[in-house]
Amino acid sequence: MNILVINAGSSSLKYQFIDMQTEAVLAKGQCDRIGIEGSNIVQKAGGKVYKVIAPLKDHTDAFDAVVKALTDPEAGAVADMSSINAAGHRVVHGGERFTRSVLIDDQVLRAIEENIALAPLHNPANLTGIRACGDVMPGVPMVAVFDTAFHQTMPRRAYLYGLPYDYYTRLRVRRYGFHGTSHRFVSQRAAELLGRPIEQLKFVICHLGNGSSISAVDGGRSIDTTMGLTPLEGVLMGTRAGDMDPAITEFLCGAEDKSAHEITSVYNKQSGLLGLSGGLSSDWRDICDAALAGDDAARRTAEVFAYRIRKYIGAYATAMNGLDAVIFTAGIGENSHDARRLIMEDTEFLGIRMDEAKNKARETFISADDSRVKVMIVPTNEELAIARDTLEIVGKR
Ligand code: ADP
Repeated sequence: MNILVINAGSSSLKYQFIDMQTEAVLAKGQCDRIGIEGSNIVQKAGGKVYKVIAPLKDHTDAFDAVVKALTDPEAGAVADMSSINAAGHRVVHGGERFTRSVLIDDQVLRAIEENIALAPLHNPANLTGIRACGDVMPGVPMVAVFDTAFHQTMPRRAYLYGLPYDYYTRLRVRRYGFHGTSHRFVSQRAAELLGRPIEQLKFVICHLGNGSSISAVDGGRSIDTTMGLTPLEGVLMGTRAGDMDPAITEFLCGAEDKSAHEITSVYNKQSGLLGLSGGLSSDWRDICDAALAGDDAARRTAEVFAYRIRKYIGAYATAMNGLDAVIFTAGIGENSHDARRLIMEDTEFLGIRMDEAKNKARETFISADDSRVKVMIVPTNEELAIARDTLEIVGKR
């Protein structure tokens, strides 16, 4: 079975086409600037690059372009559409309704629509992608895989905010958490690598990319995570502020004569690594290089970045009353030995001893052999996780 994995944003559409027998990626591509001048599609399949600059006025046009690219006689991956057996869609917010991936039908579409209030930027784009895919590939079964689903096992002590309770019951204001597909994939893989049943293991997973979140996974179930109602809460990210005093909003609205909406946009787009470094960069590599070269703005940024993550590792070890492994994943977690070293400084009391040579060499186990708590690098693969869920659900029909 061949599965098309789709991640639809407001003006972009990323996709991977995966042969599930071998789990090989047959094609990988992206449509950019959908609905904007200069729209294009770029695809790589079997060493061949397919690039077309063409007007894509909406997501239906984009899906037409994806099908054309996949079936292109020169640079495509398959002979015709009948080789696309199912589609798996990434959906950002499943609210409290979705605790696992589901086959998409009208009811599911309505439920995703009902969650638009919780993810006004993401869910409409995801929905548009699903509808366009259904139009272009009628009859092809589609599955929705939610970023929030894995975290639905959190107990109420972890997901409730200290607000009037009726904000939760009436407005569903609570911690949902995101990157769930990645946290789930990585925790399962880590248990395999440790050769132990996941039910017996306590993990802190550090998903560190442009957006970052930490989760506590106890016995294979998420029991807490740093992102909240929205992906703004938690650790310092590329341009997102993470945790802070909510009273700062009113203070800044007054001091800067801005609306709450404008200030929230600053928290999302001009804060984090970018903001704290005084505009140097939102990219960890730039911050890290400048910090190592002695730049003070970059050093303070790197300090706050690492410290916040370390604080959560300690908090989550306590939340789980134990810890077997700290796991690093995503762009920064997988690639930056400096980030891993800075984060893991002064954690010996937890039973952690790093092996800097293994860390630099990017080995799977980067703690010393006699470290009671293991530290691991486990690459994430959200697309493969979506494809596996899709296969399981479509296979059962
Ligand atoms: P996204 O959340 O957009 O999926 P990624 O997981 O791709 O993000 O992570 C992007 C981050 O990873 C950037 O901050 C980038 O600097 C960092 N990164 C990627 N490769 C490296 C590397 N080789 N060394 C250090 N940092 C890296």
